Amino acid sequence: MKKKIIIANWKMNLLPGQVEKLTEEILTGLKKSSKDLAKIDIVLAPSFVGFLGVAKKLWPKSFLKSRLKFPIYLGAQDLFWETKGAFTGEVSPEELKEFGVSHVIIGHSERREIFGETDEMVHKKVKAALEAGIIPIICVGETFEERREGQKDYVIIRQLSKALEGINLKASQKIIIAYEPIWVIGSGQAVAPEEAEYVNRVIYQRMVDLAPWPIVRNNIRIIYGGSVDRENVKDFVSQETIDGVLVGGASLKADEFVKIAEIIASSS
Ligand code: PEP
Repeated sequence: MKKKIIIANWKMNLLPGQVEKLTEEILTGLKKSSKDLAKIDIVLAPSFVGFLGVAKKLWPKSFLKSRLKFPIYLGAQDLFWETKGAFTGEVSPEELKEFGVSHVIIGHSERREIFGETDEMVHKKVKAALEAGIIPIICVGETFEERREGQKDYVIIRQLSKALEGINLKASQKIIIAYEPIWVIGSGQAVAPEEAEYVNRVIYQRMVDLAPWPIVRNNIRIIYGGSVDRENVKDFVSQETIDGVLVGGASLKADEFVKIAEIIASSS
């Protein structure tokens, strides 16, 4: 069984001071917990301007990444694929690394839908993250219409295949694939865990075709995201191929997030 992971996607919901406060509350909750949280990985992904707030709390004496002492990581919600230059408004992989970012969400449905991010752009971002030594969290998922028209598997296989096209994963590189059915994100209504498990198996099978078996076995985690909360998380993480969860709304409340992390740790 792979080590399970919980990733908080705070989106654009918090001011820097609120990020710092929430990080503090989460850390306090995690430290007080009686569960063995070392069994899981935890990633907090604030907006770019929230990095400092998380870093100050995770690595109090210095926010250099070398100070990291817990299985809790700083994540980003996006990155740009170029390393340097005239790209106003963008943030490079190197800048993220400098801050101690170890994971980056790529191709979230909000970026695809609102900002017109294409499969090709997702691919470039995944490649750039891997080259920089940052773990990409590649989001894939179908709209309600695509699901109704029976296109779900096709859409997910296309997104995944394009994202990883021509990339030969090395033994040192890891990736996370997050299945996020777009129509349940932020709805308060998750899909049935069995449906998520089915899609995760589709993803798994595609990965077996795309990458050498040892890489699939050791370096790839497939997770679920979409209205995960303390009530439903156990049913997701007890599925055979679901290696963790990406959490939006429920990650904005420290007690809820800590509880979800504890439930995952207890089911690991
Ligand atoms: C998300 O947007 O990645 C997400 C999982 O959101 P929520 O948990 O709020 O559905």
